Amino acid sequence: METKKGKFFPFGIKVKGKKGLSKSTPILAMAEQEILKINLCQHIGAPATPVVAVGDKVKKGSLIASESGFISANVYSGISGEVISIENLPTVTGAMQPHIVIKNDFFNEEVFLADMPDYEPKSIIARIREAGIVGLGGAGFPTAVKLSPKESVDTLIINAAECEPYLTCDYRLMLERTNDIATGIRFMQKALGVKKVIIGIEANKPDCIKLFEKFDDFSVVILKKQYPMGSEKHLIYCCTGRKVACGALPASVGCVVQNIKTAIATYEAIVLNKPLYEGVLTVSGEGIKEPKNIKAPYGTSYQAIIDFCGGTTNGTAKFVAGGPMMGKAMVSTDLYTKKTDSGILALTKKEVSLSSPTNCINCGKCIHNCPMRLMPTAMEALILSGDYLGADKLGVINCIECGSCAYNCPAKRSLTQSFNFAKGKIKEIKSKGGK
Ligand code: SF4
Ligand code: SF4
Repeated sequence: METKKGKFFPFGIKVKGKKGLSKSTPILAMAEQEILKINLCQHIGAPATPVVAVGDKVKKGSLIASESGFISANVYSGISGEVISIENLPTVTGAMQPHIVIKNDFFNEEVFLADMPDYEPKSIIARIREAGIVGLGGAGFPTAVKLSPKESVDTLIINAAECEPYLTCDYRLMLERTNDIATGIRFMQKALGVKKVIIGIEANKPDCIKLFEKFDDFSVVILKKQYPMGSEKHLIYCCTGRKVACGALPASVGCVVQNIKTAIATYEAIVLNKPLYEGVLTVSGEGIKEPKNIKAPYGTSYQAIIDFCGGTTNGTAKFVAGGPMMGKAMVSTDLYTKKTDSGILALTKKEVSLSSPTNCINCGKCIHNCPMRLMPTAMEALILSGDYLGADKLGVINCIECGSCAYNCPAKRSLTQSFNFAKGKIKEIKSKGGK
């Protein structure tokens, strides 16, 4: 349709891209592993319920756990083999979550979903739900629910910003699977019944912009390289000029946002009858010997992925699941991939700050940087004194955990972690009737 420059939002930060480490590496499929440990909480909402038992044989594409509510998602096996245990295992955050452990028989037997009865909106949404598709940009919200908004919407926005440093998996997918993405987008467009599709791509990906400009039925918005451009609210503003109020959803301004990987999963579920059991992620950082973009079934060991990338250098100081801004520091690499993973980073001492936090010097940098116009320093002070409801009054619940406040805090305060912790506490207090 058209290409235009997007608006920009005040505040936020400029971050070093570091995408050169992996951006030229085509996506490589990992060799099949002997064991997959598949998490049943790979999405926002209720954990999936196992539909297999120890000793059961499964195939690649077999349903192993079914959604257990409206906000939940099916889980499938990415290998053929035998279920050898169902147990609670640690995850990146340290929380214990239920996993189904499958031993590979290397017969590579595969099973597919049934053919689509038709391609009407209801059938598209039902297939997306059946295939276990969730927002693969990191949020993990069930896609079928997002494609069924209560409000009337007129615009589908595809988040192709990939604004997190180091991550290049969306970039590679845009280069390597352009037509599959376009097909997946058209199915989501049909499910929503909207005429307008906007693909928002950061200006630092001119090759991707060129590829998507060729589709007459989509508009491309060239976004300024700015962090956190991938945040839904900021993306919607930059693509359409519409402002989503605090606490409101994108549908309140007529928009639904989906991600590149979610479009591919939709294409695969509808055209190839393939449920969601594998994903693409970036393995990067100066500590990784051979940075790559790799495809692996969910439940693959992070350590096996790191080994597939040549292992790490001696200077590795920190492992991060996801990007360096919004990702989580890993205490161990003996953990297993899931749907929402976008990267594994091995960062060296020169890439991370290992110094301990010191007292806040009230410089105000965090306030200036916050794209949500919050008061990080004041919120942290309340949280540290245990006044979670005080932090709630300052709007901590609207924090998108983008890390912009902590990025150049001279006192190295762990601001984002505090806000994440406080949000959990506030939900807990309110669920018990606290105000
Ligand atoms: S940037 Fe850090 S030192 Fe400065 S006011 Fe915020 S918390 Fe305090
Ligand atoms: S307070 Fe939250 S939204 Fe604001 S910069 Fe910090 S992490 Fe981002």
